[in-house]
Amino acid sequence: MRLVTYLHHGMAGVGVLDLRSTRIRPLDTIDGRPIPDMLTVIREGLEAVTPSVMRPAIPQVEVDLLAPIPRPARNIFCVGKNYRRHAEEFARSGFDSPSTAAVPEHPVVFTKVPESVIGDRDTILYPESLSNALDYEAELAVVIGRPGRGIRREQAMSHVFGYTIVNDVTARDWQQRHGQWFLGKSFDTFCPMGPMLVTADELDPAALDVRCWVNDELRQQANTRDLIFDIPTLIATISAGITLQPGDIIATGTPEGVGAGFDPPRFLQRGNEVAIEIEGIGRLVNDVF
Ligand code: MG
Repeated sequence: MRLVTYLHHGMAGVGVLDLRSTRIRPLDTIDGRPIPDMLTVIREGLEAVTPSVMRPAIPQVEVDLLAPIPRPARNIFCVGKNYRRHAEEFARSGFDSPSTAAVPEHPVVFTKVPESVIGDRDTILYPESLSNALDYEAELAVVIGRPGRGIRREQAMSHVFGYTIVNDVTARDWQQRHGQWFLGKSFDTFCPMGPMLVTADELDPAALDVRCWVNDELRQQANTRDLIFDIPTLIATISAGITLQPGDIIATGTPEGVGAGFDPPRFLQRGNEVAIEIEGIGRLVNDVF
């Protein structure tokens, strides 16, 4: 299923997008109550929801798609330097923290605040007077379904609810200056997400093409098979000491081709458009202003 969170005549809803008819079927609980939000769907499980019999399907053109999880319950987990060629370009760029290895031996994990999330077609706010090193990072994001602590690699995929796209927008100068990644990656609007959440039964995340364009110029092109630490390893690592909760999001890291990787760097400017496509999920587009 391709799940979406949408606004229709000012009312938020959760539904299933049918790509062929381009209509959205609103979701209800099995006993006919409307579903308030995506987190409820994830917590209750797909077996507890059903397309509404009372409400008609809505043409996609009539809705605004929000991020699938517009306000996560807590910070978004993110993984740094998880594609070898990106780790190398980042080490060369001079924006990395000197204390970390160029290509890490263990997953590098940081977080972004939930309030940084915006949806498809929303605007990334250029942080005027704060940064002139705004960068994009195309990433496959994993959404946790079943909670767990100490999840073993072999069991990890059974904890996944589905997948979406995240743009891990970053102020590189803040990332460099403050010796950690949280501040420069958590500014308002720095986490475009969506446009949909594809359920785990529909997608094998082990070999998906990831591409990113800035103003129609292809900047990033890779495949998730090149991840240094795969999804089971990431889930096992994060859940070792932290109980993962339904609705938790793990952005798995970005491939080579970020703005900081060019010499000279090619950072985002006002008026730019960033488009990210991940095979089997869709296309996330945001302008910068
Ligand atoms: Mg990233």
